[in-house]
Amino acid sequence: MEVHQHSEKKHYIVTDETRCKGCGLCIEFCPKNCLGFSDVLNEKGWRVSKMHRMNDCIKCYMCERMCPDFAIFVDESDVPKKA
Ligand code: SF4
Ligand code: SF4
Repeated sequence: MEVHQHSEKKHYIVTDETRCKGCGLCIEFCPKNCLGFSDVLNEKGWRVSKMHRMNDCIKCYMCERMCPDFAIFVDESDVPKKA
């Protein structure tokens, strides 16, 4: 599990590399090109999604909506739920 916090806005993007299958939908549909593939594979052998530019994130929820495996989501709580 990775948690990235925007330095000014109060939100996080949480990614669960154990659920990710590397389909790339979140990467393709992020309007700000925040996401990319990781350099490492997860335990299932998939090259997973990774946050590269958190401060460009506009909290649009597109990544969360597009992911078929619930492996990435926006968290607006004070403390990230899955940290
Ligand atoms: S919330 Fe929107 S801008 Fe932020 S990473 Fe997801 S798709 Fe990109
Ligand atoms: S959409 Fe979900 S499963 Fe596909 S690469 Fe992104 S986080 Fe992984």
